[in-house]
Parts: sequence; structure tokens; C-alpha cells
Amino acid sequence: MKNIYDYSIDELKNYFQDINEKPFRAVQLYEWLYKKRINSFDEITNMNKNIINRIKEDFNLDEITIVSKLQGKDVYKYLFKLRDGNTVEAVLMKQNYGNSLCVSTQVGCNMGCYFCESGRLKRLRNLEVNEMLLPILLIEKDLDIRISHVVLMGIGEPFDNYDNVIKFINIINNPKGIDIGARHITVSTSGVVPQIENFINDGKQVNLAISLHAPNDEIRNKLMPINKAYNIALLIKTIKKYIEATNRRVTMEYIMLKGINDSVQNAIELSNLLRGINCYVNLIPYNETSNSKFKKSNNDDVMKFYDILKQNHINVTVRKEFGSKMMAACGQLRANYKED
Ligand code: SAH
Ligand code: SF4
Repeated sequence: MKNIYDYSIDELKNYFQDINEKPFRAVQLYEWLYKKRINSFDEITNMNKNIINRIKEDFNLDEITIVSKLQGKDVYKYLFKLRDGNTVEAVLMKQNYGNSLCVSTQVGCNMGCYFCESGRLKRLRNLEVNEMLLPILLIEKDLDIRISHVVLMGIGEPFDNYDNVIKFINIINNPKGIDIGARHITVSTSGVVPQIENFINDGKQVNLAISLHAPNDEIRNKLMPINKAYNIALLIKTIKKYIEATNRRVTMEYIMLKGINDSVQNAIELSNLLRGINCYVNLIPYNETSNSKFKKSNNDDVMKFYDILKQNHINVTVRKEFGSKMMAACGQLRANYKED
């Protein structure tokens, strides 16, 4: 049986046609799912019993469950158990511009970035659309809030689960669905070039973030195995193509790692690499993990790095640190979760 939250409104229209019902039923069903937020198909009042029974036969509404919740200042970290017993995380951050949810896209990640906790847990499988979407509904209910922004920056490489990720984006963006504006959705990739090409062709108006983390191949090779497949020159060329096609500004994520990529020389090199590209750099304080040999940069070095980028007219911000003390970094909660 398929989960109802995997379905686009057009697919549901087809479904209703297949069972000799009018396509407008799909719009009605979407309302029950995403506006009225039903917990059971029996709550539907504008369809007759026959239709409801048929829907019950064909779909499940099974919820994934919250197995743990940690709370910090302006941050909530949830761990969800999926139907097959696997677990995934989502992190809710209360920002001054709204509530932003960081969602996972895979169980584990195959990219193997050396600094990342998620990369230590090999990808077991891709998440289904409903497994990315239900955390939004469950957290909104749990905290009695509306989530205004979604970032695909949790566990996993979104572009390694491309089709489901695009479908997920379409459903949450749909005004009849959760209705999160495209400009409030950000997808982050470690740089899977062929999928960035696909993303260009799909023409989505969502934000794109690139995990760059290094100003040259020598350093990036030491951090991210994917750089051996798609090096910086190729990545930058593809990003320029994306900007050309979409006219959108790209975010370059840059984790500040002590003694690895945080020198004055590195800042100059990064400025030269990004000069003239419509992007902004997000300097990310590294969340140190017990399994990692990497250390976070000193604040002074971060500010020096920031100043050099500024002087070179590169747009740059330093990311606010969220919940590092409560294992809010990518993959940490899952890595530490043991079933009783
Ligand atoms: N796989 C995608 C999206 C998930 S990772 C990607 O790599 O872009 C989201 C972001 O968190 C990436 O920029 C990643 O490099 C960063 N990240 C991973 N581990 C981190 C840590 N311990 N501290 C800070 N940022 C981390
Ligand atoms: Fe995967 Fe992103 Fe972590 Fe790299 S940084 S291992 S791509 S989740």
C-alpha cells in the first residue's frame, strides 16, 4: 500500500479518474491532508463512505513517530522513527524571519565527507516523499507553529535522491498543499554536477546552496571525496550556468576548519575564485563531533576571513550557531541513538 503523502495533486486526480470519481476529489483530499490535517480518512466529511473506504483500501496515512526531541535556545531537534525502524532527524530553528526546518533526504549518506557525521553512516536508502514531508506536519502540530522555511540540509545528499526531492519540493510548494514559497525552500548539495544540470533544466525557483568548503582542489580533495569526481573548476562552471539560466543567487557554504581552510591565503584564494559570481558565502562554524579529527576555527580567524572577503567585495555572512551543544549538527543525534 502506498502512502498518501507521496502523491502529487495531479497523481491523485488520475487516481480518482481511475476509480470513476471526479478529479476535483483530489483537491478536496489535499485540503483534508494539508489544511485540515486529518489523522484518519474517517474524518473526511465531504465524500461518501464508498469513496472513503476505497481510499482506505488503496492508501495508508501511517504516521512516522517522534522518538526523541531535544530542546535548546530557539532550536528543537527531532528524531523520527520510520516504518522500517530506521531513524532520521529534523531540526527546527526559530529565526527572526520565521520558523525554519532542516529536513533529511536519506538514511545515511554515501558522499563520505570526512568532517561529517552523516557521511560516517553509509546510505541505507533514500527517503520517500512522505518521510521528508511528515516531519513538517508532525512538528507543526507538536509545537503548534507554522513552518515558513524548509532547508534540505539534514542527513543525506538531496541530489542523490533527486526525483523524490523534486517531488517533495513540488508538494510543499503547492498552494493547495503546505504552501511554502519556493523562495523559502533551499536545497543544499555537495556538488553532484549532473544533477545540478538537471536542476537547471527543471527550472525550480528554490534556492540552491553549494557545500564548497575549500578554495582549491587540494584542500577540497582532503574534505570531500566527491571533488575527485567533479572538481572545483567543473563545479564553478556548472554554477555559472545555473546562475545564467535562473538569474538566481547561489549560496556557497564554507565550514571554517582550524588550520585546514581558514588562513588569510585561503580567504584571498576564495575571493579570487568567486569574484564576479552572483553568490554569497555563508561561513559556518564547525560543529565538532567526537568522531572527527577536525576542529572549529578560532573566532578571530573567522572574522579575519570574513573581513578579507568583504574587502574583496564578496557577499558574506557568518552563520548563527544553533544547538551545537545538543548534538544538532548533521547526523549527530542519529549517530548517538541506540534503541532500548
Ligand atoms: N549533503 C548536502 C546537504 C546536507 S549537509 C550537502 O553536503 O550540502 C548540510 C550542510 O552541513 C553541508 O554544508 C555540510 O557540509 C554541513 N555540515 C556537515 N557536518 C557539519 C558539521 N559537523 N558542522 C557544521 N556543518 C556541517
Ligand atoms: Fe553527505 Fe552532505 Fe555530509 Fe557530505 S556533508 S557526507 S554530502 S550529508
